[in-house]
Amino acid sequence: MKNTLLIDSAYINGKFIKSKHTFDVVNPATGKVIASLPDLKVADCTKAIIDADKAWKSWKNTTVLERCNTVRKWYDLIQQYKDDLAEIMTLESGKPLSESRVEVDYGSSFVEWFSEEGKRAYGETIPSQKKGTRMLTIRQGVGVVAAITPWNFPLAMITRKVAPALVSGCTIVLKPASQTPFSAIALAKLAEDAGIPKGVFNVITGKDSAGIGKELATNNLIRKLSFTGSTEVGKTLIEQSASNIKKVSMELGGNAPFLVFNDADIDAAVEGAIAGKFRNSGQTCVSINRFLIQEEVYDEFSMKLSHAVSKLKVGNGLDKGVQVGPLINTKGLEKVQHHVQDALNHGAELATGGKVIKDLFFQPTVLTNVPKEALIFREETFGPICALFSFKTEDDGIAMANATEFGLASYFYSTNINRCFRVAEQLEAGMVGINTGLISNAAAPFGGVKQSGVGREGSKHGLDEYMELKYICFGGE
Ligand code: NAP
Repeated sequence: MKNTLLIDSAYINGKFIKSKHTFDVVNPATGKVIASLPDLKVADCTKAIIDADKAWKSWKNTTVLERCNTVRKWYDLIQQYKDDLAEIMTLESGKPLSESRVEVDYGSSFVEWFSEEGKRAYGETIPSQKKGTRMLTIRQGVGVVAAITPWNFPLAMITRKVAPALVSGCTIVLKPASQTPFSAIALAKLAEDAGIPKGVFNVITGKDSAGIGKELATNNLIRKLSFTGSTEVGKTLIEQSASNIKKVSMELGGNAPFLVFNDADIDAAVEGAIAGKFRNSGQTCVSINRFLIQEEVYDEFSMKLSHAVSKLKVGNGLDKGVQVGPLINTKGLEKVQHHVQDALNHGAELATGGKVIKDLFFQPTVLTNVPKEALIFREETFGPICALFSFKTEDDGIAMANATEFGLASYFYSTNINRCFRVAEQLEAGMVGINTGLISNAAAPFGGVKQSGVGREGSKHGLDEYMELKYICFGGE
């Protein structure tokens, strides 16, 4: 199949751009170069920002219906090219093809959602407090938006920023992860085909992420910065954005707990654990990082989980039946190895896995009796490792779950309805999954508390991130 969406250019002001400076993008499953892309510099980024600002002057004055209809066409095209987009995603990220297809559906669901939700960006009239005065509010797009996205969801992390920005009347300069830029370019090509005018959606490719990031965070023409990635880089970008009081959204790292209480359906919990842990080889921000199991059900859960994990099929994501792909790069692999070794050094036991298969492929692993002192209790592993801890009482379990500076996703299994409400209210997290390991959805607000971030994506709240609320006061009789 000739994949016409695999384009080796950046996309600025409606043009596919080349450069004599390039960088290679490598398939993590094979180590082979997929293609080389322009290694753009800060000056190119500045130019793209100026182009986006010019385009904003006319894009913001289109009607909301025009914008939403164009974004809807973009959705239709993404769906039409689902197989091509999924193939590109598997090539650059290594995730199994079946998962890539799910991500195209998930990612495009934000485009569909905001093509509808954009029409409902209502203002309000406010009962007047003063004779003769009339008060109302309107909502308007913030202006030029900068978006910086990670490699673990090469398509969905883009659509859930770009779609609400577009329908709000904003224009965008996007810097995708340099490990997975092809999905971003393909999306830009389909946006152009859908009728998004030149300069409205721009994609900068380049290895100088610190330089380009700083320019996006400090340039006065950018009114909003939306970032998904590590907490460390998020902190830097918040500091830089403070230079001109930029509006920011930050979707950062997690350290998700998965609690199994003594009244849980253990088979269902094992199923939820596999779904919530092994998607994208454990490289998602909502991946379960700490399994907290109540003492009475610890042995049954660990035995059943280890059995299920040992059956997972690892391999090249393009091969049929593969459930777990490679890690994204050597750095990712080393972190996984380090966390496993550190847990074993602290006295944990290996129930299954624990070794590199070859290259960037790591065995799906279960570690039992892990003490709280192990690194994996505090740090996001981003790999196919299940670390099992135990707790005595409900209060102990909640305290362990909350003993982290992160607060993105959390999960627990229980069949006691009172406990379900009690625990959900006590967990310090932006999202709680009860009796499920999968929670993401375009209609639901996605985001974290504590050091996991600021703001929400998806849902009706996801639109607010790209809009300003303007108050209008009429005087007179
Ligand atoms: P990362 O290193 O922070 O990179 C994310 C993006 O930031 C990439 O585009 C990267 O560009 C860019 N970047 C790197 N250094 C930068 C700098 N100094 N200034 C500006 N931009 C910079 O994170 P990652 O390893 O790719 O992604 C994994 C992290 O993302 C995990 O912590 C995960 O939990 C988090 N995440 C959070 C969510 C959420 O919704 N909360 C979703 C997905 C992932 P280059 O690739 O070119 O270096």
